[in-house]
Amino acid sequence: MKALVFNKVPEILEVPVPVPEHGSVLIKVLYSSICNTDIEIIKGYMGFKGILGHEFVGEVVTSESRFFGQRVVGEINCSCGECYLCLTGRKTHCPYRSTLGIMDHDGVFAEYCVLPESNLHLVPEDIDPEIAVFTEPLAAAVEIFEQIQIRPSQNVFIFGAGKLGLLISQVFRLNGCETITFDISESKVKKARSMGIHAALVQTLSESDKAEICVECTGNADGIDIALKHLYPRGKLILKTTVEKCEKIDLNQIVINEFEIIGSRCGLFEPALSLLGQRLVNPQPMITKVFSFEEILKAFECAVKPEIIKVIIKH
Ligand SMILES: [Zn+2]
Ligand SMILES: [Zn+2]
Repeated sequence: MKALVFNKVPEILEVPVPVPEHGSVLIKVLYSSICNTDIEIIKGYMGFKGILGHEFVGEVVTSESRFFGQRVVGEINCSCGECYLCLTGRKTHCPYRSTLGIMDHDGVFAEYCVLPESNLHLVPEDIDPEIAVFTEPLAAAVEIFEQIQIRPSQNVFIFGAGKLGLLISQVFRLNGCETITFDISESKVKKARSMGIHAALVQTLSESDKAEICVECTGNADGIDIALKHLYPRGKLILKTTVEKCEKIDLNQIVINEFEIIGSRCGLFEPALSLLGQRLVNPQPMITKVFSFEEILKAFECAVKPEIIKVIIKH
């Protein structure tokens, strides 16, 4: 099969179709999408080598599987299920885990991929495959609500109106909080507004503008500094950005202001699929362009441009 393999540079290579081990199934990839993590991996993040990609919708082709012939999305962390962290409800933190297209596990930018059957979720018929490809990043957005209690009376600043920021903004809107999404790019602010999101240029923020909760999802190392500047004392900062080179921050200001800093990563798929199924989150306007798999290198060139939101690959 053809796959996008990363080893110093990304290239399309002919590789063998993967063979699923016990408990895993073979999945034919239908759609995938490019995430900031993929772009960071190409810069050296995680030191990953292998087939890239972790956001996908596919059809199970292993005939013994209960999902055989059906459309699925898959959780990206493959954990051991037996260690202390797995047994205490933290399987995304299993020290023995591999992660689809990110760590020790070949990804989805290929004809086929392999995942444990227990990682899979059926995609309801009424969710289009191009929309279902957003399940993984939307689950990461919903994870914030698993981690902290957010009261409707609290105001929220979201930094970054990109791939993840627009999903997070849509989820916060459901909570009834006064939320403003900031970006440095005029086109991203315009895009957010066209989706009914309250958005503004970050340059318009004055020093006294502050929020009880700041969510940092700019994808840039210096975003964290900006977010901290606009957080009230005892406020909460949610960090979503992972980058190849991270910024040093002044810890004194965290002590003095008693800031609470919460790292946030992968989330549950069920609530994400439910939000998509109920049309409470609509990622459709975020799709900038759909490329065929043969054009995936071009798709990457496109995905790094600042005016681009989400690039989808049709396999
Ligand atoms: Zn992702
Ligand atoms: Zn484990």
